Amino acid sequence: MRIVPFAAALVGLTVLGTPALAQQKACANPNGLGVSRTVEIDTKGGPGFGLEHYKVHDFLQPKEVVLTFDDGPQKIHTENVLKALGEHCTKATFFSIGKMALGYPDIIRHVASEGHTVGTHTWSHQNLKKMTEAGAVDEIERGISAVKRAVGGPISPFFRFPQLADSGETLKHLQGRNIAMFSTDIDSFDFKIRTAEGTVKSVIDRLEKKGKGIVLMHDIQPHTGKAVPALLAALKAKGYQIVHLKAKGELASLPEFDTAIEASVKGLPSAGGERPTSSVVRTIDENAPKTRLGGEPDVKRDATVVPAIIAPKGVSSAGPNTENIGDGSGRKWFWQGK
Ligand SMILES: [Zn+2]
Repeated sequence: MRIVPFAAALVGLTVLGTPALAQQKACANPNGLGVSRTVEIDTKGGPGFGLEHYKVHDFLQPKEVVLTFDDGPQKIHTENVLKALGEHCTKATFFSIGKMALGYPDIIRHVASEGHTVGTHTWSHQNLKKMTEAGAVDEIERGISAVKRAVGGPISPFFRFPQLADSGETLKHLQGRNIAMFSTDIDSFDFKIRTAEGTVKSVIDRLEKKGKGIVLMHDIQPHTGKAVPALLAALKAKGYQIVHLKAKGELASLPEFDTAIEASVKGLPSAGGERPTSSVVRTIDENAPKTRLGGEPDVKRDATVVPAIIAPKGVSSAGPNTENIGDGSGRKWFWQGK
């Protein structure tokens, strides 16, 4: 077990991890990065992390890396990231958007079920610095309620500001809610680079200069999903180790925002633990012989998948408004960058 740095000990960071060797053994991939240690963060008072903005709690040792992904979940791209992380038996933190999570609840649940940490990144990725205090709080809290609702289970009191744009009022609000804030040490600028190769080079070059850090990427970006396998291989080859962040406690959402979210997802009886759609709705052959009274219907074909969620206003039944999100098409909805 490593010695916890003094600054880390001050905010209640605890090393939870089993030794790196033991975790590596559990990975089927002999070249897997694994997780070298897990740190537990006591979010009381809303500590800040990431030296770009919050220079207090620097808990990483040389060669240690925390992987973070913002703005998802997004179909295909988030799944690509999950697949690559799984192949390396390693863990990351996802700062998810409320609208996206409600649009793709199955994907955010997959993120959570793989053991990754789920934090939040507002409801619709507004620049909170440019909003009224009430509007900014609404964005933060609606995002929390939505992500929690979509996950159908506990989420972490971890938050990242869209475009890393904080303000005095919003910081105070998060501190009062005991939510930790994450800036970054290594900004990949993947949203500007727009190629997988460039994204890998961007992260590795910056890491080589700084030697460690919390890395910011975007699982909504197609090329980031494609970059992660090569990035993880490069991190392994260069001797970097992955630190997994966990929160000491779970995040309590506020009832009034839960109610507002609930009103927008009418049709979904309960979150989490639902039966798979394929066990609820199946396509039957109406030309098949009728079953006897009391008998089982004769099901001939595979299930037809139906949407598991009624989308909230502004979100199409196929998920968030993919016509306008930062999906590499150049069209913008709320994507201005980070
Ligand atoms: Zn963002």
